[in-house]
Amino acid sequence: MTTLQVSTNHREEILDLTGLVQDALLSLGAEEGVAVVSVPHCTCALYLNENESGLLQDTLELVRHLGRLQRWQHDRIDDNAAAHLAATVLGGTVLIPVRQGRLALGTWQRLLLLELDGPRRRSVTVALLAEKAG
Ligand code: ZN
Repeated sequence: MTTLQVSTNHREEILDLTGLVQDALLSLGAEEGVAVVSVPHCTCALYLNENESGLLQDTLELVRHLGRLQRWQHDRIDDNAAAHLAATVLGGTVLIPVRQGRLALGTWQRLLLLELDGPRRRSVTVALLAEKAG
């Protein structure tokens, strides 16, 4: 298992972690199994989807829309309820099959981190559940 550190620069932002996580798997000597990628945070999320500029903007707009829907209860504490809610819906852990040391993603799939309450430093834990040989 290894932990990566990434920095975000905006309140809402999407980072493509695919290459970083692929490199981490190579350094772990991963061959066959399942990569478990997780963020130990309540206001950012991980998800798999296309890294297309329009879709990235649409995703950020959807998240911002949550904040405009209403005044949420948690906003009384630190004014970031929409960030928590979006993180809850998307989740903070992604499982990805690993074949011959490579993330087995679809052609257009990328592993994306959605920052919801930045800018911050974020930890990303990468672990491999290895298949037993034979
Ligand atoms: Zn909060």
